[in-house]
Amino acid sequence: MKVEFLGGARTVTGSATLLEKGSLKWLVDCGMFQGGKEIEKRNHNTRSYRPETLSFILLTHAHIDHTGLIPKLVREGFQGRVICTQATLDLCEVMLRDSGHIQETEAEWQNRKSKRSGGKGASPLYTVEDAEKSLRFFSPVKYDEVISLNDGIKVRFQDAGHILGSAIIELWVDEGGGEKKLVFSGDLGNSGQPIVRDPSWIKEADLLWLESTYGNRLHKSREETLRELLKIVQEALAHQAKVIIPAFAVERTQDIIYTLGQFIREGLIPSIPVYIDSPLAISATEIFKKNSDYFDRETEQILSGGDDPLDLPEMIYTRTTEKSKAINEDKGAGIIISASGMCDSGRIKHHLKHHLWQEQSHVVFIGYQGEGTIGRRIVDGAKSVRLFGEEVAIRAHIHTLGGFSAHADQKGLLEWLSHFENSQLEVFVNHGEEKNSLELSHLIHEHFHLNTSVPQWREKRTFFVPEERTLPEKEGGEVTPSEETFHTLFRHLDRNFKRLRKKLRSMRSKGEIVQDPRWLEKLGEMNRKIEEMESEL
Ligand SMILES: [Zn+2]
Repeated sequence: MKVEFLGGARTVTGSATLLEKGSLKWLVDCGMFQGGKEIEKRNHNTRSYRPETLSFILLTHAHIDHTGLIPKLVREGFQGRVICTQATLDLCEVMLRDSGHIQETEAEWQNRKSKRSGGKGASPLYTVEDAEKSLRFFSPVKYDEVISLNDGIKVRFQDAGHILGSAIIELWVDEGGGEKKLVFSGDLGNSGQPIVRDPSWIKEADLLWLESTYGNRLHKSREETLRELLKIVQEALAHQAKVIIPAFAVERTQDIIYTLGQFIREGLIPSIPVYIDSPLAISATEIFKKNSDYFDRETEQILSGGDDPLDLPEMIYTRTTEKSKAINEDKGAGIIISASGMCDSGRIKHHLKHHLWQEQSHVVFIGYQGEGTIGRRIVDGAKSVRLFGEEVAIRAHIHTLGGFSAHADQKGLLEWLSHFENSQLEVFVNHGEEKNSLELSHLIHEHFHLNTSVPQWREKRTFFVPEERTLPEKEGGEVTPSEETFHTLFRHLDRNFKRLRKKLRSMRSKGEIVQDPRWLEKLGEMNRKIEEMESEL
């Protein structure tokens, strides 16, 4: 089978893998590239996704960096099924529409700008209408059920514990010579995260795609993070100040609501006004409430005790822009949760402009801040940032709370990987900034002695090709290898060398190769053979 790494390869965003078995083609995830002009150019060229020839798209979860290009593919002729869990479908309904809206607004802004400079107009990547059309292709499945798809392909979704409805995808592909198993970790959650369950363990796979967002980092513990947040809220209450929390609309916002509710239920803080200032976060919270069957045991217990874990005594939803602007006129202590989580767009920018220069205010970062974003600059200690064409000084208290992450950290990723029982597993480390992926890949090789690599963007690989291959014969009996065969053979050679080295090292460490005359002779002979090969080359 053939694989092309279309996204999330040495980057965090744009997750997509194209798989091909004979004439059947499908994708696992179909994410949008985010985080700066250069990388976002990739969103405009989706020819290599071959939308009209795809039979289906399997989705690990609803985040835009895993789903955001679906409406574009539908516009370009995709007619297959989009297979995901029900909660992913519900979240995609609001998130893809919202994404269509953002694309339209951005194109309008670009157009106004280029008109002024006499340039050409821009058309949106896709529209709200395209997003709505794409929803017709969605087909929900349950966790833990093995589902047969076209041509001997089977799939199973298991809880990834990252956001509501997130899944690890197990894929069985009948390759003629036997069934092979592929596993896509998707984004893996942090164990102990509220609302969602812990990530499921997988025991077997031939090929594994493993995320590495925090492949080189360790999170602070959740308990420590909760203590820090509690202290910040108490300080804001004492000084009648505001706490600004830039948060992703899905999962992180609900996680904060849940945590503040926990503080109030335990009597640690009095009730405080909490503004949910993001229409998307409001809709997402409603979807969470509708899908309570995805909740973990602790959240179910709060529900059955008669409390709503996703509600607060003074929760204020602000859907309209007018109401959002009015928040900054409210005096006194309060918490403003707003999107986008990396501060590059949305209403959070207004709140930052209003509060960053005020010494009493607190800005609390609880999620990943991508390279090149305003959030990253603030976290990295900038003295000022540019917001709406104005330089705003940073005097507020800036906090970064690592324990709210919806991603497993380095330890969590290695822990999850340790549940695989087969030693022949080959791992592709993806969904991470290059240095994080490389570090995790190196660690996996050290700890588990597995064959690992960090694929490049648009790298193509072929797997499970029968060992004996006949090369096509040209007239006159001369053999001409095709480019593909050549690459396959080369890769086999490379892999055989690696295997040999691994085997030798493991035999030595197990004491199977010993310092006796028989082994001295054997090792000498092997060295001679390798030298012979080298001189032949
Ligand atoms: Zn995600």
